[in-house]
Amino acid sequence: MTVSTSLPDPAAIRARCAASASHVVIEAVPETGSTNADLLARLPAGELAGPVLRIADVQTAGRGRAGRPWLSAPGASLTFSLAWPFKGPLQRLAGLPLAVGVALAETVASLGVPVQLKWPNDLMKDGAKLAGILVETGTAPDGVLWAVIGCGMNLTMPDEMEARIGRAVSSAPWLARMDRDELVALLLSRLAAVLAEFDDTGFAPFRERWNALQAWRGQPVNILDHGAVRQQGLAAGVDDAGRLLLDTPAGTVAVLSGDVSLRLA
Ligand code: ATP
Repeated sequence: MTVSTSLPDPAAIRARCAASASHVVIEAVPETGSTNADLLARLPAGELAGPVLRIADVQTAGRGRAGRPWLSAPGASLTFSLAWPFKGPLQRLAGLPLAVGVALAETVASLGVPVQLKWPNDLMKDGAKLAGILVETGTAPDGVLWAVIGCGMNLTMPDEMEARIGRAVSSAPWLARMDRDELVALLLSRLAAVLAEFDDTGFAPFRERWNALQAWRGQPVNILDHGAVRQQGLAAGVDDAGRLLLDTPAGTVAVLSGDVSLRLA
């Protein structure tokens, strides 16, 4: 299989971006600890003047939620973060990881790779995780609220990495064969359009698009909190704030993402 391995080229990405992303500064590095950590570190000193996309060919300390590791390998993974300013308030950003999921899933689907969304922050392909999203927030010295939106996507999955992850994972060899700059430009353009809309409207207008892509819809699921089952029910989509709705014998229950994990029952 031919896999595109060249490092991302910011000028080539920019040239392929839609107008929605024309104001985004694009940076590419061969390696860093975490692109999210790099961008968050610039916030306290007021070093972010506008949206920035930072792509790394490999992250040595990639993170998921609650400090869980996100693994990547050179040439095999797409890892990037996008810093974006928001009007706020902070509570509104609770639905942001879900809106980002819609943007990424719709882009990937438009390239012929059908995916589903697992609440709150994962893209699933063939029943296993293809990509993860990590949204972290901070406030700049001028009081502006920023979100740093990280994405790690498996283009191919080296055996050694799969063994280290230790659970079923997916990859998208079809996307691995694409021009990497073109792929990033398509993802960034859709993401930028969704973020601009989200900043005006919040999550509510994305709800139906998210629900149409929901993994495990109507199936029995468990909500795990630190490994213990906290709630059980049938997965019934999300509400206007991005909370997961569970149908239970006692009625419909809304679950806030916090740090709980969703599993098939
Ligand atoms: P969970 O996956 O337990 O439901 P989560 O969706 O919040 O929780 P994250 O914290 O976002 O998961 O992602 C970190 C987890 O993803 C790790 O604990 C590991 O199991 C898994 N993981 C790490 N690297 C990869 C990868 N490249 N591809 C797929 N899964 C990975």
